[in-house]
Amino acid sequence: MNKIIIVGAGFAGLQAAKGLTTSSFDVTIIDKNNYHLFQPLLYQVATAGLSPADIAVPIRNIFRSQQNPKVILDELIGINPQLNQIKTRNNTYIYDFLVIATGSEPSYFGHDQWKNFSYGLKNIKDATSMRTKILKAFEKAERIKNEAANRGSSMHSYIEQFLLGKFNLDLLNEDNKSKKMAIPTVTVLSLWR
Ligand SMILES: Cc1cc2nc3c(=O)[nH]c(=O)nc-3n(C[C@H](O)[C@H](O)[C@H](O)COP(=O)(O)OP(=O)(O)OC[C@H]3O[C@@H](n4cnc5c(N)ncnc54)[C@H](O)[C@@H]3O)c2cc1C
Repeated sequence: MNKIIIVGAGFAGLQAAKGLTTSSFDVTIIDKNNYHLFQPLLYQVATAGLSPADIAVPIRNIFRSQQNPKVILDELIGINPQLNQIKTRNNTYIYDFLVIATGSEPSYFGHDQWKNFSYGLKNIKDATSMRTKILKAFEKAERIKNEAANRGSSMHSYIEQFLLGKFNLDLLNEDNKSKKMAIPTVTVLSLWR
């Protein structure tokens, strides 16, 4: 029986595997995580609207009623196309057909130095780090006791509403719009450091 190995259980890998569930091939899906991550909702985890478990589904659960694919938690570290062989952290596997669906990495458009000043948002660790940073900035705003802080506390509610998607620009008249939006942005950035 032909062996198909799919590396990566993101949207692409899952789609490939789903198309092969009833095939006569011997299908194996390998991912370095044992869950499929729904990346479009990472923003909500980063802003504390959802918890990581809400956007991560165990891969085995997705295919629980199917014979195919077999699911393996492992990380691809090498491919030998001459031998039809892949190497993972824990094993080597022979394939007849190989599907590489390992996604992408953040791009800094040729400015890798920007990496030190920014957060990626590609995985759960990125999202929870960003969430911690945002929540700590709010906590810091709560603790400040001077006049600037009192301004900060109304800014705080603007920021909170903004992050929760409740900020209604129409409530502001045209004159105040740019001013009110600019203040909370500046405050968040200064607390971010
Ligand atoms: C914050 C955010 C918001 C987005 N919003 C939208 C949206 O609204 N609409 C939309 O259409 N798209 C959106 N996208 C894009 C969409 O999520 C991606 O296009 C899609 O996830 C790509 O699917 P993929 O299968 O190619 O890669 P991924 O989903 O990244 O999956 C790659 C898989 O490969 C695994 N893997 C990687 N390397 C290895 C290795 N060496 N060994 C084993 N496993 C490995 C990973 O663990 C992962 O499970 C968003 C992306 C992000 C980050």
